[in-house]
Order: sequence, then structure tokens, then C-alpha cells
Amino acid sequence: MTTLEQSKPADEARDSRTSERGCVVLQRLVRHLVLFSGGLVSWATAKRVVEKHGTDGVVLLFADTMMEDEDLYRFIVEASENVGVPLTRIADGRNPWEVMRDERIIGGGMTGADPCSKILKRQLLDRWTRENCQPETVSHVGLDWTEHHRLDRMRARMPERKWSAPMTEAPYMTKPQMMAWLKREGIEPPRLYKMGFPHNNCGGFCIKAGQAHFELLLRMMPDRYAYHEQKEEEMRQMLGKDYAVLREQRDGNKYPLTLRKLRERIKSQGTFDQFEWGGCGCAIDA
Ligand code: SF4
Repeated sequence: MTTLEQSKPADEARDSRTSERGCVVLQRLVRHLVLFSGGLVSWATAKRVVEKHGTDGVVLLFADTMMEDEDLYRFIVEASENVGVPLTRIADGRNPWEVMRDERIIGGGMTGADPCSKILKRQLLDRWTRENCQPETVSHVGLDWTEHHRLDRMRARMPERKWSAPMTEAPYMTKPQMMAWLKREGIEPPRLYKMGFPHNNCGGFCIKAGQAHFELLLRMMPDRYAYHEQKEEEMRQMLGKDYAVLREQRDGNKYPLTLRKLRERIKSQGTFDQFEWGGCGCAIDA
């Protein structure tokens, strides 16, 4: 079941109603919708939107995968307070493993599927937008100046909507510069960045991540790695198929690589593909 919560001042609560399907639907004009993921660039994006347009008609929309790092919730509240716009949170209610169980597939690896991103992010965000936004609403995504191609893909995928990515525009900023900006604003960066993770999604896990990313997860949060290893094994047993989150290439062929096999290889031989970080692009790339 889809659930939706919104943190907002009491006077704004009057501006919402409940739809037939149990979702809160805003009854005020949404001029600028910021897809607020809990990442550094989405915070910087929201800052630029508010600097240019003010806070009136701005919504910070967060789709919760129910598997986020605990520090993401601290960050996203501080970040929304800093931007000056209350956070709007939506959630399917399932986490990525529960979605993959229901869809009977392990994403990533040999399948290349991303049912979690599709259902917990893209479909949920698209539905909220259809129910709450107007044709003139501008949707802002957290992309930096190296990611303009992803903005082009969003525009191609949903040409009926107006898209913008303020951090792809001048003055151009690198991620370290955005991090310094965040600190100047008095906000502690999400702890996953300090651990070395390239994004702040799904608590350091991602079905699109590569071996180097999972080695980092194993080193920094072995209990969390063990949880995902167990979930992967449960899925393999349930499906009776040689699915795995990862894959590897040998002799020109691709093979599934389980999290268990990767962990054992790292522990016994210390070997893994140090350059395979994979991608994420959750909510943006289909
Ligand atoms: S961050 Fe990765 S694991 Fe999490 S929902 Fe997105 S694609 Fe799935």
C-alpha cells in the first residue's frame, strides 16, 4: 500500500486533502518540484531553486525506500530546514528486497533489471506528480555539471513535463565545492560520503553497484553487508535460479557473482575489481 506523510507547519496542513487511494494530495500550486533524494546535489539544487524563485510553491519530495541509512534522515530534515521548505515524504512501504521478492527477480547482475528503482522511486514519484502538479510545474533534479546527458534522458522519457537541473548550469560547482558550501551552512554531510560511498542511497547498498562498492560496504559496515548477502541467498533459494546482485567476466563470458562469493574471495585472496563501482542514477535513469 502506498503511504504518504508530510512534515509541514500546521497552517499548511489545511492545504491538503486525502485522495481515494489514501494519498495526501496538495491543494496548492506546485510551481517548483525538487526531487529531494537525501544526496548532496539535490540539496544544492533545492538551494538554487529557492535562491532564484523563493520558497512559495516549492515542494521537496523524498521517496523513501525504507532501507535508507539512519543518518540520511538526520541530514534530510536538516537540509530541508536549511532550504526553508518542509519535507514531503512518500513511500511504497516496501524495501528493495521486498519489491524484488514480489517481482521474483534480483536486479542488477546478469538481469540488469532495477525493479526497486522503478517501483519505489520512478513510479511513485511520477504518480505523486500526476496527482499534485500542474502542466506548468517545473521538476528539478539533482544532477551536477557532468551529468547533463541524464537530464536529456529525463526530457526524452517524459517530454510532457518541464525539467530543470540547476547544478548543471553556471556557476559550475564540483562535489567538493558543494560539500564545502554545505559545511559553511552548518550542516554535517551524510556519513556515507565520509565513508567513501559515491551516493547516499539505500544505506550504502545498490543493485546497480559494482565490486568496489560492495568491498567498501563489507569493510565499513560488515553487518549490513551480511544482511544483503543473506537476502540474496534467500532470493536464490526462493527462485531456484543462479541470480546474483553482481556479475563478473571471465574468458570473455559473463557469470553471476554472489555477495557470498565476493566476500569469501576478498577475505581469502584480497582480490576484487577495484575499478568497478557501478552506477546508481536511482529515480532518474530508467
Ligand atoms: S539505490 Fe539502488 S537498490 Fe536502492 S532503490 Fe535505487 S536502484 Fe534500487
